[in-house]
Amino acid sequence: MRIQADLEWCEGHSSCVSALLDLSEDGTVLVLQSEVTPERSDEAADAVPSCPVAALRLIG
Ligand code: SF4
Repeated sequence: MRIQADLEWCEGHSSCVSALLDLSEDGTVLVLQSEVTPERSDEAADAVPSCPVAALRLIG
């Protein structure tokens, strides 16, 4: 499973920041680890619905 961010939608709300995701210098999301390991699956599952503009999704 992978986490994917759509930078065209991202508005930098930062509610997704976690071990998998951070904010870059331009204020948009930075995917630190796109491959979601089993240990990070709960964080990924929480991050996706936390984004108010639906810029995140899980694939695979
Ligand atoms: S919560 Fe959504 S809008 Fe905010 S930084 Fe994360 S991806 Fe971007």
